[in-house]
Amino acid sequence: MSRSRKPVMKCRHCSEPPVINMRQHKLALCGPHFVEWVRQQTERFIEKYRMFTRDERVLVAVSGGKDSLALWDILLALGYQADGLYIDLGIDGGLGYSSQSLACTQGFMAQHGGDLTLHVVSVADDYGATIPAAARVSQRGRGKPCSLCGLTKRHIMNRVARDYGYDVLATGHNLDDEVAVLFGNTMQWSVEYLARQGPVLPPSHPGLARKVKPLFRFYEREMAAYAIVRGIEYVYDECPHAAGASTIRYKELLNQLEADSPGIKLQFYLRFLQAREQHGLFEAVRQQVELFTCPSCGQPTTNDGECSTCRTWDRIRVRIAHSANHPAS
Ligand code: SF4
Ligand SMILES: [Zn+2]
Ligand SMILES: [Zn+2]
Repeated sequence: MSRSRKPVMKCRHCSEPPVINMRQHKLALCGPHFVEWVRQQTERFIEKYRMFTRDERVLVAVSGGKDSLALWDILLALGYQADGLYIDLGIDGGLGYSSQSLACTQGFMAQHGGDLTLHVVSVADDYGATIPAAARVSQRGRGKPCSLCGLTKRHIMNRVARDYGYDVLATGHNLDDEVAVLFGNTMQWSVEYLARQGPVLPPSHPGLARKVKPLFRFYEREMAAYAIVRGIEYVYDECPHAAGASTIRYKELLNQLEADSPGIKLQFYLRFLQAREQHGLFEAVRQQVELFTCPSCGQPTTNDGECSTCRTWDRIRVRIAHSANHPAS
């Protein structure tokens, strides 16, 4: 009786065993060839979507997670002028999430010889409270701190990019992140978000940097594989406040679809971009938005007055001061 043996898989370019098999591309690669492929692809996307050039200064928002550290690593390897920005949110969650994230970012820098530039901004020092403490007073203990966190991170990224003269702000969003957000926005028909979602967001206001997502065509598992092959130590745990987020549920659902139809996530996202670019989908919404300048921080706002970040934090500081003066109330 003859037994059929499973064929031994090999790297597309050499005889080494592959570290990853990308079914949607029908491509299996060994470690060194995978690293080379990821870098070449990233360079191709940067050029294709006109994200930035080697003459421009790029600020990479690093969280200590695999995607942002992989992005920084790739941009440095490709010879781009890339500095980092780490935002200390003051999230502990029993695991010291923020301190672990900073330690991983610093470990990455040490691995690269230590002469990289990292801007570190502490939310508690600059705004008056950590994200969880601020969310507790502003939301009276209800709900998640994520909307305040997102608002504050955007405000800081815009500010640091503007104050230090960066042309571009790069984030490590991968395809799974982008598709989950697109799915959520489509489920809600959030046309304003759909009008702005994409790999490149031109500055909406003088002094703002262009926002880009160079990893938007890579699957999450590809970025995890890249970080592991490159020996990048990253924070494995999600932020403790991420549990139960709708994007996590959407990711699970989309992964089920992907398992049956490899490539469906990439197709969903690319067809959305195509529909928007070629058929002007949501163009009218994009043109309707009128922006003002916040008198406190100079950042764009849809209100004629202080921006929502400044107003939110003013209110939080008043509440914190009030509770410090009236501890029992
Ligand atoms: S999960 Fe929420 S609180 Fe945690 S980093 Fe993300 S947005 Fe911030
Ligand atoms: Zn190989
Ligand atoms: Zn403001």
